[in-house]
Amino acid sequence: MKAEKLVIIGSGPSGYTAAIYAARAELKPVVFTGVESGGQLMYTNEVENFPGFPEGVVGPKFMMGLRSQSERFGAEIKDVHVTAVDFSERPFKLWTHLPDGENIETYKNGSPKEVAATIEKVKKDEPDMLAESIIISTGATAIRLGVPGEKKFFGQGVSSCAVCDAAFYKDKNVFVIGGGDSAMEDTMALTKFVSKVTIIHRRDSFRASKIMVDRVLKNKKVTVLWNSELKEIQGEHGVKKVIITTDGKDKEYASDGVFLAIGHRPVTNIFQGQLELLKSGYVLTRRTLTEQGLEKATKALDDKKNIQFPTMTSVKGVFAAGDVVDIRYKQAVTAAGMGCEAALDAERWLENQE
Ligand code: NAP
Repeated sequence: MKAEKLVIIGSGPSGYTAAIYAARAELKPVVFTGVESGGQLMYTNEVENFPGFPEGVVGPKFMMGLRSQSERFGAEIKDVHVTAVDFSERPFKLWTHLPDGENIETYKNGSPKEVAATIEKVKKDEPDMLAESIIISTGATAIRLGVPGEKKFFGQGVSSCAVCDAAFYKDKNVFVIGGGDSAMEDTMALTKFVSKVTIIHRRDSFRASKIMVDRVLKNKKVTVLWNSELKEIQGEHGVKKVIITTDGKDKEYASDGVFLAIGHRPVTNIFQGQLELLKSGYVLTRRTLTEQGLEKATKALDDKKNIQFPTMTSVKGVFAAGDVVDIRYKQAVTAAGMGCEAALDAERWLENQE
């Protein structure tokens, strides 16, 4: 089997941007979109903060645009999920099929043990593709609570991105769930538009940094319900009410929106044991914004003290971009930028191998 020059795993703004750049560089990239082709923006109504769209753009339309733009330059797009990888030697091996009796749902909702067992079975067969280089852009998913109404109203009053959606809630009454930095940041973003934000936190103190907590608590639009959990979201065409349990007692509150800020989970279960990941599951590269990333970057300095291939992971020839790496910004535009960087790094790295 002939090895492809570049395989891109994942199809959010980072994956497709990498594909556009790589295709224009005549690398003939193959993009595996995964079962949820298009990533998180497929669940976003209106994207108003991507430069170049003064009127905003509907999330799925934006993603279809990126997809056809990459196809126009020769990217080959395969709407399948990568079920296992082997990065132990080059060319790298990829599997995309599932043995009989195995279910793709395992990759989405299975425990790490279940995923590892499925991967082991997959690898008993011959790989489906070989690749000289890889870009990982599998993204991250916002952690959901799993309460009644959350799924039904997602994108219609329930959101996991206040920075993206706050402007749609002018003079509304909204709830933020969580007590970390994201919850504080989301609350501050919302206070610019809404009339009232209630933070629901399951304990009696926030884990967020003090400076952010102070800023939030000083804001007159903000109320906190401590020791509280969201039990249910109700509505008709959008969110109308929430049921909150405080100290064991349920109470109903009128609400126009619910913002989940209980963290993100990077989609890296197929890469366990194949390359270095942070404890939180994010892929470690030379541009990861942690001490470990700094260490990797320092070890990769050239004789001019510039970092070589910043988007390279701990495996030479495997690069990563977008939310799967990004512990901080998690924006479509930052993901797209990183996708461009990874494609340029992969192109230059492949040239050096020839
Ligand atoms: P996080 O720090 O993990 O906080 C998650 C919050 O959600 C916690 O308060 C947690 O409660 C709560 N939570 C988790 N699961 C829950 C559940 N099932 N039900 C109810 N509440 C639940 O996540 P994050 O706020 O997204 O931040 C992630 C990382 O990014 C952090 O390192 C953070 O510092 C960083 N970040 C930085 C900035 C900034 O510097 N501007 C902005 C955003 C994020 P408990 O506290 O009880 O565990």
